[in-house]
Amino acid sequence: MNAEIIAVGSELLLGQIQNSNATYLSEDLSSIGVNVYHHVVVGDNPHRLADVVRSGLERSDLLVFTGGLGPTKDDLTKETIAKVINKDLVYDEATEKRIQSFFAKRRQVMTDNNRKQAMVLEGAKILPNDHGLACGLVVELDGKTIVLLPGPPNEMIPMVKNYAIPYLKKQLSTAEQIQSKVLRFFDIGESQLVEKLDDLIENQTSPTIAPLASEGEITLRLTVKGQDQKENDVLLENLKSKILERLGNYYYGEDDQTLSLILQQELHDTKQTLAVAESLTGGLFSTTLTDLAGASTVFAGAVICYSNAVKESELSVSQEIFERHGAVSSVCAKTLAANIKQKLNSDIGISFTGVAGPDSHDGHEPGHVFIGIATKNRVVSYELQLAGSRDNIRQRSVKYGLYYLIQ
Ligand code: ATP
Ligand code: MG
Repeated sequence: MNAEIIAVGSELLLGQIQNSNATYLSEDLSSIGVNVYHHVVVGDNPHRLADVVRSGLERSDLLVFTGGLGPTKDDLTKETIAKVINKDLVYDEATEKRIQSFFAKRRQVMTDNNRKQAMVLEGAKILPNDHGLACGLVVELDGKTIVLLPGPPNEMIPMVKNYAIPYLKKQLSTAEQIQSKVLRFFDIGESQLVEKLDDLIENQTSPTIAPLASEGEITLRLTVKGQDQKENDVLLENLKSKILERLGNYYYGEDDQTLSLILQQELHDTKQTLAVAESLTGGLFSTTLTDLAGASTVFAGAVICYSNAVKESELSVSQEIFERHGAVSSVCAKTLAANIKQKLNSDIGISFTGVAGPDSHDGHEPGHVFIGIATKNRVVSYELQLAGSRDNIRQRSVKYGLYYLIQ
């Protein structure tokens, strides 16, 4: 099944918002074996939107629209599609009831234009919206499938997960059953990794191997298509073993197991807490940890010791250390890690000090980073020379910190 994703909204064309819906949909559709061949963005203009609907129907089996399902005049996805495919918009009582109860629950008055949202394409299947008003729609037309989804991601994502994907999955023939596994690697460059897998990538058919790099992390998505699920599993496991024979040293997790998730799990399982002293990273490491639900059981807290004065007053880094070694040094990183551990009474302390750039500082090039780690029995430091922009350097430092903690 070949698909295209059509995002409707002038704000996308003006660069006011990013087309994150397309990114999300592409991933979900690929994961069930749909080939996404085009992303289209079109403004809230009925003529250009109609052109897009026509060309989509010519080249794709599945058209997924997001946006323009709301009650206002510039929301015209439904109306335009109806015209192009020659269907009427019909009033749907169940949908209107749902809209009424949505307003009643919030003690708000339903306005007339909201009735527009109870109009659905004739013959369409309705996808419930559990987080908003505009329902989604699926229309089957001469072997083509058209899916209409609301624009707001908090409405669109659950609708796709709970209703659209299960519907499409049923439609796909069993011959196209697809399974995939993501392997995660760290501390290895993409070209180095790909070189080690050259022959496997060259001869790939099913499973296929797709590398993706971001901020020092590389993922490999292994995808297999076939009728027999057990056979697919075996093929994936065999390929995984072959890859890990060559790259096991850099492998850290699978599928949704990010570095921060693995760290949180490990700390949780071993009943340990972590305290953080952040100079270089200015709070980014703590943000990454606290982004995860359940952080409170493992994250003690942090001191953002950006200036030397705060390193000294809050974490007892002595003038002698600044004079003899500097703030960007192994000694300073170790002192910060040991002292934050003690100050916050945690099991582990970690610290980040370094130069994010763009300019050199105190004789250190941008990207010169020290990470200190203090545990019950020892205090160590790691020295890195990272490349990239200020943002890259800070993000990568955070990932290295997570990585060292799970070693
Ligand atoms: P509403 O009922 O809220 O008007 P709608 O289905 O009409 O929903 P739009 O009016 O097109 O959707 O968009 C509403 C909001 O949803 C946008 O302001 C934007 O924040 C978000 N949004 C729309 N399209 C996208 C997209 N492609 N990617 C990410 N966010 C989007
Ligand atoms: Mg709208």
